[in-house]
Parts: sequence; structure tokens; C-alpha cells
Amino acid sequence: MTVDLHDATDTDRVDVCVVGSANLDLVAGTDRLPAPGETVLGTDYAEHPGGKGLNQAVAAARAGAHTSFVSAVGSDDAGRRLLAVMAADGIDATRVRDAGDVPTGRALIGVSSSGENSIIVVPGANAVVVVDSIPTATVVLAQLEVPVEAIVQAFRLARECGATTVLNPAPARELPTELLELCDVIVPNEHEAELLGGVAHLLASGARAVVITLGARGAALHTVDGVTEIAPFAVVAIDTTGAGDTFCGSLSARLAMGEPLDIALRYASAAAALSTTRRGAVPSVPHVDEVAALLASGG
Ligand code: ADP
Repeated sequence: MTVDLHDATDTDRVDVCVVGSANLDLVAGTDRLPAPGETVLGTDYAEHPGGKGLNQAVAAARAGAHTSFVSAVGSDDAGRRLLAVMAADGIDATRVRDAGDVPTGRALIGVSSSGENSIIVVPGANAVVVVDSIPTATVVLAQLEVPVEAIVQAFRLARECGATTVLNPAPARELPTELLELCDVIVPNEHEAELLGGVAHLLASGARAVVITLGARGAALHTVDGVTEIAPFAVVAIDTTGAGDTFCGSLSARLAMGEPLDIALRYASAAAALSTTRRGAVPSVPHVDEVAALLASGG
């Protein structure tokens, strides 16, 4: 059962509406990961806000967009902490539902001293995200950590209000044809693009642009007119967690704020590069002034 936390009365227009997951990440360091049945001692412990949806909403807000988030959290301490994270970045949480007894989504992450990790994701409230309305938005952005039916519904509503739809199809999974047909811009990495049938298939399904992110190699914009490379910014990367989320949130924000696609992609590339120079996801997302400085330096 889901219960609305707030009066759903906001009629304000927003730049970006993000539909997606919110998690609390519980991260334990250890000398080596435990084998099944084994207990090992941890060396350190930290809790971070996460989930692709929340990461991307923070990225959109820090890129300067008026941002609304459609998600769900449980009536628990983790949920209250994630709502505080949204408030701190000025994100409209009117449509973040209280999932009641269903716990807030969590990721239990073990990291060994050699850098290997092992992760259990418990979707919790993310599995009961339902979309019955979205604010009037310029761009609607989604990923795949909430039910696909919720994203299809959000994109249908987006089309009705004339919004541009942006899908980051991560984590990789096959998608119903209807969802692909509702996407204006799709931003997969190479693996996700292959699983979805390749660029030609995505363009034939109706996407106007397919942006493949290529990690340290930058990104590539594919349209029916051909391919344009988005050069990477040279940085000393120490943690690429959340780089893809920073890219998608920033891209959507700058498109919604009126920048043409090639300029918005350059902003997204600079913001994502900066995010790799710091640890974590939400804490590593840069603000607009830092990105502007990197862009002005020419990368
Ligand atoms: P994902 O983690 O979703 O697979 P990528 O690894 O492709 O995403 O990274 C997303 C974007 O972040 C890239 O397109 C690029 O712009 C930027 N990026 C990632 N790693 C680096 C890096 N080492 N140096 C500079 N930019 C990077």
C-alpha cells in the first residue's frame, strides 16, 4: 500500500521531473569479502544517499534546473534522511510517496581493500513506485530501478504535456516496445545499448538522439544524420561511481534550460568528469560554477 505524504497540489512548471529510485547505501570496508557462510571483520563503515533516481535529481538540481522528483521511501529513518537530502538541494519532493511499512530502498555494499565489491540491493519502496501524476515539465528523465510500468506511465504523461523524454536504460534490461517508442533521447552505456538491440534499432524505434557513454573515452551522439564524438575532459579519476548519473541529470537539466543538444552534452561531459575526481555519488556531483570553470578552461 502507498500513501501520499503531501497534498498533491503543486501546479508549478518545473524544468526537469526525475522519475526513479532513492536508496540509502550502507558501505562496509573489509580486508577481503566473505565467502558464503563466512563472517569477516569490517575495517570502516559509511552511509550515503544513493539510487540512480536520487543521484540524477541531485545532478539536475546542481546544474541549475528547477527539479521535481517522483519516487517512494518508507516511513523510516532512512526515508526521512533521503527527504532531507532532497530538501538540501532544493528538489521538489511533493511526489515522493510514503510507502508506509515498505522499507526505504537500501544497497548493502562490501568493498575489499583490493577494490572488489559485492552488493545486495533491496528495492523496498522503489518497487512500489506508482505514477499517477507528474508536474508540468520541460524534460522528464527516468532510469530502470523502479517498475517499468511506472516509467511508461510517466512518459505517456510527459508526451501529453509536451515534455522531452530522456531514458537512461540502467541497470540493463530488455524493454517493452512501447517504452522505447516514448523516448526522445536514450542515454545507455555500450553494454546497455547492445542489450537493447543497438543504435540503429533505437533510432528506428523513434528516439531522436542516442547518446552512448564511453567512460574515460567520453561519449558519442548518434542521430539519423550520423555520429558526433563528445570528447572526454582529462581529469584524475579516483571513483567513477555516479558518473553516468551525473551525466544524465546534467544533460537533462541543460536541455530543459534551453541549451542545444551539443552544448548540453559538453556540460554533461564536464560535470561527469568532475564527479569522478571525488568519492561517492551524491557528494561528488559538482555545482554549476565548478562545471563552468572547467568548461571555460577548455578541458
Ligand atoms: P556508466 O557508469 O553509467 O557506465 P560511464 O562510465 O560511461 O557511465 O561514464 C559516464 C560519463 O562520465 C562518460 O560519458 C564521461 O563523460 C564521464 N566519465 C566517466 N569516466 C571518466 C573519466 N575517467 N574521465 C573523464 N570522464 C569520465
